[in-house]
Amino acid sequence: MGVYTESFQVKTKGFCDAVDITEQVQKAVFNSGLNQGIALVFIAGSTAGLTTIEYESGAISDLKRTIEELVPQNREYQHNYRWGDGNGFSHIRSALIQTDLSLPFSGGKLLIGTWQQIVLLDFDNRSRNRKVIVQIIGE
Ligand code: ZN
Repeated sequence: MGVYTESFQVKTKGFCDAVDITEQVQKAVFNSGLNQGIALVFIAGSTAGLTTIEYESGAISDLKRTIEELVPQNREYQHNYRWGDGNGFSHIRSALIQTDLSLPFSGGKLLIGTWQQIVLLDFDNRSRNRKVIVQIIGE
């Protein structure tokens, strides 16, 4: 058994920017030298999220619309009164989508579907430089 940790940076535009990070996560699995186990992917930040979806413009557009319907940007948020940074909607979106994924891998390859990509969503109301941590546990 071994544990391997790697991180990488992702520059985003905020406002539900969706970035495909599948290749970086797969590379971290490869770098670990481990054959099989679990890759834990985590984003350090309370205004971002991680999910999997088919990364094509139609599905991404549908996802963004659905998130806007569920947690509208222009609703009243107590966080905005308390903190004044205007991103109350960003924190709620992050809390619902969540900030981690656990993915199995075998033969050094992630066992995700062909049309299933790992996608970082940045819900903040400005561009950000995000840190993604990949922790791999396996043998
Ligand atoms: Zn805030």
